[in-house]
Amino acid sequence: MQQDRSNILTVHPELTDLPPLAMEGPALDEDFLRYFNRTLGRDRQHCTNHYLYEALAYAVRDRLMERWKATRAAYEKRNARRTCYLSLEFLMGRALGNAMLNLDITDAIRELLHRYGIALEELAEAEHDAGLGNGGLGRLAACFLDSCATLQLPVLGYGLRYEYGMFRQEIVDGRQVEEPDHWLRDGHVWELERPEYTQRIHFGGRTEFYRDQDGQQRVRWVDTHDVLAVPYDVPVPGYRNDTVNSLRLWSASSTDEFDLDDFNAGDYDRAVESKYDAEHITMVLYPNDASENGKELRLRQQYFLASASLKDVLRRHLRLNGTDFEQLAERNCFQLNDTHPSIAVAELMRLLVDEQRLDWDRAWSIVTRSMAYTNHTLLPEALERWPVYLFEKLLPRLLEIIYEINARFLDEVGRRWPGDAVRLQRMSLIEEGDTPMVRMAWLAIVGSFSVNGVAGLHSRLLTEGLFRDFYELWPEKFNNKTNGVTQRRWLAMCNPQLNRLITERIGDGWVTDLAQLRQLEAMAEDADFQRRWREVKQFNKQRLATLVRDETGVVFDPEALFDIQVKRIHEYKRQLLNCLHVIHLYARIKRGDTTDWTPRCVLIGGKAAPGYAMAKLIIRLINNVARVVNGDPDVGDRLRVVFLPNYRVSSMELICPGADLSEQISTAGKEASGTGNMKFMMNGAITIGTYDGANIEILDEVGDDNFFRFGLSAEEVAATRADYRPQAIIDSDPDLQQVMELLQDERFSPGEPGLFAPLIRALTSPDDPWLTLADFRSYADAQAQAAAAYRDPARWTRMSIINSARSGRFSTDRTMQEYNRDIWKLEATPPEAL
Ligand SMILES: *Cc1c(COP(=O)(O)O)cnc(C)c1O
Repeated sequence: MQQDRSNILTVHPELTDLPPLAMEGPALDEDFLRYFNRTLGRDRQHCTNHYLYEALAYAVRDRLMERWKATRAAYEKRNARRTCYLSLEFLMGRALGNAMLNLDITDAIRELLHRYGIALEELAEAEHDAGLGNGGLGRLAACFLDSCATLQLPVLGYGLRYEYGMFRQEIVDGRQVEEPDHWLRDGHVWELERPEYTQRIHFGGRTEFYRDQDGQQRVRWVDTHDVLAVPYDVPVPGYRNDTVNSLRLWSASSTDEFDLDDFNAGDYDRAVESKYDAEHITMVLYPNDASENGKELRLRQQYFLASASLKDVLRRHLRLNGTDFEQLAERNCFQLNDTHPSIAVAELMRLLVDEQRLDWDRAWSIVTRSMAYTNHTLLPEALERWPVYLFEKLLPRLLEIIYEINARFLDEVGRRWPGDAVRLQRMSLIEEGDTPMVRMAWLAIVGSFSVNGVAGLHSRLLTEGLFRDFYELWPEKFNNKTNGVTQRRWLAMCNPQLNRLITERIGDGWVTDLAQLRQLEAMAEDADFQRRWREVKQFNKQRLATLVRDETGVVFDPEALFDIQVKRIHEYKRQLLNCLHVIHLYARIKRGDTTDWTPRCVLIGGKAAPGYAMAKLIIRLINNVARVVNGDPDVGDRLRVVFLPNYRVSSMELICPGADLSEQISTAGKEASGTGNMKFMMNGAITIGTYDGANIEILDEVGDDNFFRFGLSAEEVAATRADYRPQAIIDSDPDLQQVMELLQDERFSPGEPGLFAPLIRALTSPDDPWLTLADFRSYADAQAQAAAAYRDPARWTRMSIINSARSGRFSTDRTMQEYNRDIWKLEATPPEAL
């Protein structure tokens, strides 16, 4: 323990009370030079974009630091009620551009660098994405933190500091190859280690009864193998409001004693091994999106996050409120991002009952007043269940607590529905069977006062289907919170040209109040405004075309329709349907059916989970189709296709501003919300989409005239399944017939006959869960409508403006205000004066 010297500050407050740093002029320049030359100790051999970026990032970080402290001081002084957002994923992307935008120093920095002949963009590109997430769920967490800081809400993110984030995707001979993402290798400017808040986390061991000093029988968890959790804090700046919130990421480290015991016993190898084992916990992000993993290490990660975060909250609570545990529920709310951290329900019970010695009912009342759960998917393969035997081995005390929660819960169900044994079985936290399992979603629902879905349709389907029993028991718990995205990153920062044009016309209020974009609607028909809008879009398309050429060698013509689908590769997202349409366009070109043709550039990107064979085969098909189409002289400029490798946050920042058509084509009822759809809409792309997730709400805003809707509804999907005959659909549609024939012949798999047979089998199976062929005809028709609309620039531009103008609802500022109003009930708390 370090000696506390804060008594010095009563005599010498000047030790920490520094005057605020200048946001422009020589001070900024001096800091930049000092970091480069002195702190980093670089000279002419090291004058690379990377080191220049690092020096610049430190200079910007200093400006965040003083605001960060002032924010913390304000929360502490008011003992503000807080929300802890628990998530196994935070897909933050790059930090520099966002920090500069929010501090309002982009222009000053640009000028500074310009004096040295350096372009800001070049340095910004030296920053590695923080890729600590898979896709939508992790990016949502990042957008939430941004909006909470802008709204000055005391919200603290808790996550894991993975050494290796989401893998880097390379495409070799049309195949996905995964490369490790060692993102911390060159150092990470945007984190601050806080070893003083290290926590000790238990695994393994056994439980035993004992009597405490008062003669009370209690349980303790003994003979555990402990791992240390060391926090690293990442600043989360609000927009020009001096608030800087925190994201606290836990890193696993071995306990010194644990090593030492073995070491002293002469077992050096074992000592090293245990250190190795401990540090494995936060070594790597599991790269599965929307599917469970079932690996023991994943359960370790989940418990490690939950336990470290709750202990951290308890530490602060004891310091500020002593043993008044009512205040714990009064002053803290825990939002569970999916079931991944839901073991927190049992862990908080353990901490309160075993360690703080509260009685069960009192502890349960505190837990169920502070936990809230967000569900992100209806896909059965994503529902987490852990084998009871794994719990027994890894977390024996938590299993006992889950059994006790379950016993009391099933009593309640039994009183409400006497004699309904089947219902009891359905609702039990333990699924019976050869391998009994713990149902993590049920644990999350039972332990939470709020359960929400992430778009209107999704929330409704939850209460009607998956969670129906629980909805009947506790209807008041269930609510909807439609997702959003932050317009700071996804419009103001990534689309500076459109930012300027919009701000010139309606002022900059939209940056913190996106509904103000509505004012653009009055200009939707204005010829001059339309011309400016098109110029911006053309500029962004050129920028995207350059990226595509650099990454793939394929040349996109910015005059063509840019038709884009970027998201994780998954059967339910139906990249295959997109691919079938591309083959259909190719077939039309080959048979000369090209009157009134709209030239089109199709871009598809996204990562496949490394163990998901079907998704990887879809990537191969896209690449093979692209090779044939792009290489066929008959095609000319009519059609270009690329698979863009390594889709990530920083590539989306270039992609969404340059899109004309946004592909959101999931099987209805399967995409919980989607957020890519919102980024595209904000940047003036028009959606071609199914009636699914937040597409429904986008369509509600823009109307049928400004959206290309196609396909079965969720209800029609359910009805079609009973009697689905894909072969009959093929037989009745000559276009589809031709597409299927092309798929079958060897053109797209030269030298590898039958390569795509598994895809063909899946498409033509009456059991195809994604009903891809059922939507082919209406999809192709909607695509033809989009192509026709694009040939009329005035019409297309009006649609584009209207999409942007009506995207106000899809800001996470709105989403966070709804969470706060209905669930968190926090007070906006500005920082102390600098
Ligand atoms: C927004 C985003 C997603 C989510 O996209 P969906 O189309 O909603 O699935 C995934 N990955 C990245 C990098 C994103 O920026």
